[in-house]
Order: sequence, then structure tokens, then C-alpha cells
Amino acid sequence: MAEVLVYVDHVDGAVRKPTLELLTLARRIGEPVAVHLGAHADEAAKVLAEYGAVKVLAADAPEFAEYLVAPKVDALQAAYDAVSPAAVLLPSSAEGKEIGARLAVRIGSGIITDAVDLEAGAEGPVATQSVFAASYTTKSRITKGTPIITVKPNSAAPEAAPAAGTVEQLAVTVADSSKGTKIVSRTPRESTGRPELTEAAIVVSGGRGVNGAENFPVIEALADSLGAAVGASRAAVDAGWYPHTNQVGQTGKSVSPQLYIAAGISGAIQHRAGMQTSKTIVAINKDEEAPIFELVDYGVVGDLFEVVPALTDEVKTRKG
Ligand SMILES: Cc1cc2nc3c(=O)[nH]c(=O)nc-3n(C[C@H](O)[C@H](O)[C@H](O)COP(=O)(O)OP(=O)(O)OC[C@H]3O[C@@H](n4cnc5c(N)ncnc54)[C@H](O)[C@@H]3O)c2cc1C
Repeated sequence: MAEVLVYVDHVDGAVRKPTLELLTLARRIGEPVAVHLGAHADEAAKVLAEYGAVKVLAADAPEFAEYLVAPKVDALQAAYDAVSPAAVLLPSSAEGKEIGARLAVRIGSGIITDAVDLEAGAEGPVATQSVFAASYTTKSRITKGTPIITVKPNSAAPEAAPAAGTVEQLAVTVADSSKGTKIVSRTPRESTGRPELTEAAIVVSGGRGVNGAENFPVIEALADSLGAAVGASRAAVDAGWYPHTNQVGQTGKSVSPQLYIAAGISGAIQHRAGMQTSKTIVAINKDEEAPIFELVDYGVVGDLFEVVPALTDEVKTRKG
């Protein structure tokens, strides 16, 4: 069976969920071979094996942390040369897309970014994308070179399928031309303790209806009761009520969680563009004519300041 390279996204060996989704999708088109860059490969290999990696190609070099993405592209290219894979899959993060695009240029292949699904096809993998502010769904196949595909988080439910996960060291030579941009400092973002917005299985978002930064704790309380990330409409962000990093939509982040709850959000096309592919959508809005109700699975016509706290209490009660 053809091998499929899966670029591993991890923090100190703790494999992030989008990689497990990639392994699950990779199994549809071949045998997943994981590429792990950085320390703690043995630790990561246990999880990667559980989700179907037959092999883990591991490389560690100080350059991965000292420079921007180019040394990682050198490593992925070394893995590509070693395996001659049927496809290369990466997470659709900013870094994943940049690494994928640079590899595509180097090996003369086509690339598809932001896929939301993947299936095997007679002439190569077929990727589904949600385009034009999510008003169209397209299916595409790469016609030149080895398909390189980046997949959005939450596009597939990770399914365990134990495999060998044998760790093999990958020899990587970092080219001088890959050392053009050095990282001079790092400042960790203050942690909220909530999941990352684009990876969260549940997102609770607030809009202009929240009516002030001082009211966002109402949204946060519901999010925390569900273990969810907090999102916001651009109106809320532009008003300074919530950080820009939490904006969902065309000019913010795209999310595709299992459950998206929109409170006090009207459902403008630009907002929909970032959340329309969510599996289940719930809206709370006091205007029964709000356009958001056109796309919801469950709609509550009501004042969010009554509905959201009641929902939070109910969730807490049911969780005991
Ligand atoms: C180029 C461009 C890019 C854009 N990108 C984005 C983007 O990335 N993301 C984004 O979100 N927007 C984006 N926008 C803006 C977008 O067009 C809308 O203006 C914005 O989404 C509106 O935000 P909102 O729904 O919170 O506010 P509004 O449209 O004002 O809606 C507020 C809603 O809250 C309801 N409400 C009020 N009080 C309550 C209450 N107490 N209880 C319940 N409901 C209540 C109201 O009925 C209303 O439906 C973009 C616009 C442009 C032109």
C-alpha cells in the first residue's frame, strides 16, 4: 500500500488533535508515515501508532526552533525523498500551510489548502473544500506531482487504529539558504485554560448583542461549562469587547467544531464564512427574523442574558 506522509503538530511531544485527524484521513488513501520534528519523538510515537502510523520518521535539530519554517521544510523534503509518498498531509495552520506550500514549490507539486474532507480516488486523493464564504463546496484533485494537502482542524473525528509506529531517525541537512530568518525572541501568550479556537470541539461566540466587554463573562461561563473555546463576531471585536484573535469569520478564524453556539450574532455572510461548516449550530437571538436562524440546527428566540445563564446552569446541573 502506498505511504502517506503526515506532518506532526505537537508541543514537546504531546501530539495535537488535528494530527490524529490527519492520520485518520491518511488511512483512507494509504499507510500513514508520521514526520515528527523536535524532541520527544518516542513519547509522540505511542500516540501516533495508536492512530495508525506505521512508521514515525523523527528528526531533531536546533535549527527547527532557531529559524522560521524553512529548516522544517528541509526535513519534510528529506522525508519525502526517503519515502516517495502517495500524498503529504499537513494541518491547515499558518505554519502547516507555509511548510506545505514551500515543499510544493521545491518538488514541483500542486497543493490544496484548507480541505475539509479527503477521499481516495482512482487518479489520486480527492479533497473537499468549502469556498466563497462557504457558499460552495468543491472537490479537487491535484494533477501535478505528489498531492500536498492541508486539512482544517475538526474535519474528521480521530479514530484509533493501532499500527507499529516504529521510530526511525531521519537524516536532515539544514541548508544555509534555510537560515535566512532567525527567531530573536519568544513571548508565550497568556493562557486562558480554554481550548484553541480553531481546534475546539465546541465554540461559544458572542456578538454585538453581548453589549459590552463587561458582559462577555456570560459567554465565557457557558464556554467553560462545556469545555469550549470563546469566539466573537467582528462587531464585538471592533468594539474592543474581545481580542481580535478570537474573531470568527471571513477576516477572522475559520472554525468547524462539532457544536457552535452563537449568542447575539445576526449571521452576516462574513461571519457565516468562518463557522458555516460547524456540525451542529445553535443560535440565541432576540430577533426571530435574524438571518442566523436560516442556518441553525436549533434556534432560541430570546434574550441572551436570560437564555445563556440558564443554559450554563443546566449544563452544570447535568454534569453534576
Ligand atoms: C470585508 C468584511 C469582512 C468582515 N469580516 C467579518 C468576520 O470575519 N467576522 C464577522 O463576524 N464579521 C465580519 N464582518 C462584519 C459583518 O458584516 C457584520 O457586520 C458582523 O458580523 C456583525 O456582527 P454581529 O452579528 O455581532 O452584530 P449585528 O449584526 O449588529 O447583530 C447583533 C445581533 O444581536 C441580537 N441581539 C441584540 N441584543 C440581544 C440580546 N440581548 N439577546 C439576544 N440577541 C440580541 C440582535 O437581534 C442582532 O441580530 C465583515 C465585514 C466586511 C465588510
